[in-house]
Amino acid sequence: MKADMGRRYRLYPTSVQERVLTGWGHTARALWNVALAQRVHVYEQRGRTVRAVEQCRFLTQARAESELAWLAELPAQAGQQVLRHLDAAYDNFFSHAHPAGFPAFKRRGHRLSVPLPGQAVAVRKLNRHWAEVYLPKLGWVRFRLSRALGGTIRNATVSRDGTGWHIAFGVAIGIKAALPNGKPGCGVDFGVAASAYVSTETAPRLKPPGLTAAEGARLRNLERRKARQITYAKKHNGGKYSNRLRRTIAQIGKLKTREANRRQDFTHQLTTDLAKNHGFVGIEDLRVTSMTGSAKGTLEQPGRNVRAKSGLNRSILDNCPGTRRRQLEYKCHLYGSELRPVPPYHTSQTCAACGKVDPESRKGCGRLFACVHCGHEDDADHNASVEIEARARRTGGSVTNSTRRRPVVPSPAHRRRRMRETQPATYE
Ligand SMILES: [Zn+2]
Repeated sequence: MKADMGRRYRLYPTSVQERVLTGWGHTARALWNVALAQRVHVYEQRGRTVRAVEQCRFLTQARAESELAWLAELPAQAGQQVLRHLDAAYDNFFSHAHPAGFPAFKRRGHRLSVPLPGQAVAVRKLNRHWAEVYLPKLGWVRFRLSRALGGTIRNATVSRDGTGWHIAFGVAIGIKAALPNGKPGCGVDFGVAASAYVSTETAPRLKPPGLTAAEGARLRNLERRKARQITYAKKHNGGKYSNRLRRTIAQIGKLKTREANRRQDFTHQLTTDLAKNHGFVGIEDLRVTSMTGSAKGTLEQPGRNVRAKSGLNRSILDNCPGTRRRQLEYKCHLYGSELRPVPPYHTSQTCAACGKVDPESRKGCGRLFACVHCGHEDDADHNASVEIEARARRTGGSVTNSTRRRPVVPSPAHRRRRMRETQPATYE
């Protein structure tokens, strides 16, 4: 049985364990980069893609070399797991249902993470609030058991972010689709100004600010300090980062992680409520990647309003539309609801009362919708959410006219063109 639920806990390694884990994180990143470079190279030379099975054999040979002792320190299973993740990154790149960019190289500042297969780890409970996990070559590491695991561990990932170390488990619980909950359906308009407007409600759901005013001020202060310290390092230290600069960067990272955690918390509460308390949830079937494309243009044809577009992109992504959709997909399954993505055309210009489409009804791009045909007046986002609900009701569960990209038959020429367009020429 495959993992069907994720569980993440805060990990408390000792200072010795922490040093080892940091080393592993950098090794895993280096391995990813080397393996990716090898795949790119082999593709350029022979026109074929190397897969993890083959690279695992190279890895075994490399681990035996005496000058690559650092590579042998990483547990073999973790190295193999890194290569398998690279396979997944390639599969996503070639997938038509879910096209991703070409796998990217990981820079030094990238989030440290060490993936392990489920059979490499073991967990035992210490008491009500604490448990420990056995990691190969490292032994038992304690973690805070903030909720029960509830299933068989299929994989584990140790990672470090701004607030410290965490361990995430992929757990096979054997979730079955819940019976329909029989509650009334709703439509949701995910906006920029209002974070979300539910058609059955009279007030928008607003995302609380990620940082308090004091935290925001502290962040701006730290950013200024960082800029100053970098200038100093360039001028007097040959660009070498001082320990104080590193500390400033760590403090900035901590604040940013806190902000991201709060955003994630809001998103989880919102999607759980939507899935739990509604028979179906209608959302706009949007393509986030095309929506948040850059306005930069090319060198010959520079784009207009680049700054404004990037600011808008930030507010769209701040509401994490892709994450909301992904969460709704699995939570609806869990709570007996149904996710119905509807065609998004003109939802903001359609009158929810008479159904007429007219851009005149949204004059001045204000928050007010005033229909020029029947005189219906409403908050623009609420009007859109009612229209989305109506469309979701019409689809009756079978999704039609999706904006998802139509499948293209992949030809070798098409693949080569995509690889050429997206591959970086060099890497560090
Ligand atoms: Zn109308």
